[in-house]
Amino acid sequence: MERKVRVRFAPSPTGALHIGGVRTALYNYLFARQNGGDMILRIEDTDSTRFVPGAEEYINEALAWLGIGIDEGVNEGGNYGPYKQSERRDIYRAHVKQLLDADKAYIAFDTPEELDAKRAEVQNFQYDASTRMGMRNSLSLSADEVKALIDAGEKYVVRFKIEPNIDVEVNDLLRGKVVINSSILDDKVLYKSADDLPTYHLANIVDDHLMEVSHVIRGEEWLPSAPLHVLLYEAFGWKESMPDFVHLPLLLKPTGKGKLSKRDGKKLGFPVFPMEWKDNEDTWAGFREEGFLPEAVVNFVGLLGWNPGDDREMLSMDDMIKEFSFDHCSRSGARFNFEKAAWFNHEYLINMPDEKLAELFKPVLASKGVDVAAYSDAFLTKVVSLVKGRISFVKDLWDQSAFFFVAPTEFAEKDVKKRWKEDTAALLTELIGVLEGIEDFTSKPAEEVVIGWITEKGYHMGNVMNAFRLTVVGECKGPHMFDITELIGKEETIARVKAGIDKIGTNA
Ligand code: GLU
Repeated sequence: MERKVRVRFAPSPTGALHIGGVRTALYNYLFARQNGGDMILRIEDTDSTRFVPGAEEYINEALAWLGIGIDEGVNEGGNYGPYKQSERRDIYRAHVKQLLDADKAYIAFDTPEELDAKRAEVQNFQYDASTRMGMRNSLSLSADEVKALIDAGEKYVVRFKIEPNIDVEVNDLLRGKVVINSSILDDKVLYKSADDLPTYHLANIVDDHLMEVSHVIRGEEWLPSAPLHVLLYEAFGWKESMPDFVHLPLLLKPTGKGKLSKRDGKKLGFPVFPMEWKDNEDTWAGFREEGFLPEAVVNFVGLLGWNPGDDREMLSMDDMIKEFSFDHCSRSGARFNFEKAAWFNHEYLINMPDEKLAELFKPVLASKGVDVAAYSDAFLTKVVSLVKGRISFVKDLWDQSAFFFVAPTEFAEKDVKKRWKEDTAALLTELIGVLEGIEDFTSKPAEEVVIGWITEKGYHMGNVMNAFRLTVVGECKGPHMFDITELIGKEETIARVKAGIDKIGTNA
């Protein structure tokens, strides 16, 4: 019988969700949706020393912003809860007892100092079948001694008793069968009496079973714990319900050398977090605050290590749900390329309806001191339609279109030098007369009149038009000149040409 697809994203709330974590969450989500399965969000907070306030909220907000939906979790509820590991202590305690009773785990009293001393004494010391009898634990001590130590309140841990020299098979859908010999594993600590909490290892694995997880999809840094997963499932007698594994390759620095870190982002000026994050070290940029659309981030991240099998790049969430496949996931690291992320954003911005883009532009305008209410939606929509081809982010709209809202007070020096000739002031004064005579100031008719005048007089087209543009825009760039003049209107156009003659005319 086909088992129901149930996947989990299982972050530890130790900080902001890194873009690699976003990819893990996304692939889990795509796979769940594609198969009509369930997507679980499990908060793995059993390591109280690494707990960071605000991290869980951050994870929830980031996933919601990106549209990565959760079916079961702390906020969503579900039949397999609680979904926060610190609320599942009883469950873990019972499982630890089960292993102890079955002689598959043992109690160890070795203090951190004793362990350090051992490591100093024995090179590459590993707590395992070859060394455990030389340590202080319930295998080497008598039952009475163990009881006495526990009664005396001595702190202990419970370790998994790993049988040596067993070939452990991990079924990884990306890598095939991965075989690891159990002798390289140490007797993992599963539980600590000091805080009455399981370690990541026990909690993660017990929960995968109890939550009926069918596929463990996670970063490749967790591959070393996969054999433990298998061995613990076997120890508990759950072999039949073993999940399949997918260990996703690393996200690499833009150079392709080494793992992408938050410091790389800082150094090179791009975000590696979905949203801004402040910790006691620094404030880290977020895709959201940098002006990315969530759709663009999802598209970009989706293609970091997966492709649809052809060279399509623009893929919506729904497209990816349809097309996603581990067969087209790469086994080697995916290089993080910020320019590519910006390119996706550009594509999503230019493909969205101009009305919607104009809405997104409004807060930017307001932040620049523009009285947004003074402009009609039709005006703003036209403005964005004229300049959007040159933007990667909504905020770039301002640099491209500020002159629609404020007349230039300065004029680009190099353009003045190149375009402002001795006769320019006189030409533009004549142009003002021509502009005044234009009845229909919309783009085409106005253009016909002005071009007609230039041609008739035998003036130099480039000289006149560039000087005209310089006075209206402040520099020799921007969209089609008569689209600009149509939008700002006859009166404003003429006022700008006059002001330009006054200001540049004298200092040329
Ligand atoms: N809590 C682990 C993490 O922070 C989960 C690893 C896993 O998915 O098994 O990524």
